[in-house]
Amino acid sequence: MMVGVQDRAKCPKCGYKDASTEFQTRNGEEWLFCGRCGYEQHTTAVVDRVRSAKVTKKVKRLYNQKKYVEAIREGVYDQLEDEDMNMSTFQEAGVLTNNKGLVLGFNNDNKDEFQITVVRVR
Ligand SMILES: [Zn+2]
Repeated sequence: MMVGVQDRAKCPKCGYKDASTEFQTRNGEEWLFCGRCGYEQHTTAVVDRVRSAKVTKKVKRLYNQKKYVEAIREGVYDQLEDEDMNMSTFQEAGVLTNNKGLVLGFNNDNKDEFQITVVRVR
């Protein structure tokens, strides 16, 4: 079974902002359908498979070491460029807490910053 992530996107043909897209996480294929003009696009996503495999390996290694927070960071971080954001663990950022989590800083005008606390429930 394929896992698809559904989302809304801008139609490249008519500019309609609410076109449907579906991204297949397994093979990186993307599909777009515009409900306004009927435009349909099916793309084999341009995925850097070597880079992707490297990240997968890194995440897997952290996972095996039970470094779950770091694994989450590596996985998310890969989706954005260095100049867009920075991410540190609470420990790295010197956050005074016993919790585990991540500090996310975005390089936008507001310099938005978030803390994601990872709570172990079991
Ligand atoms: Zn359209």
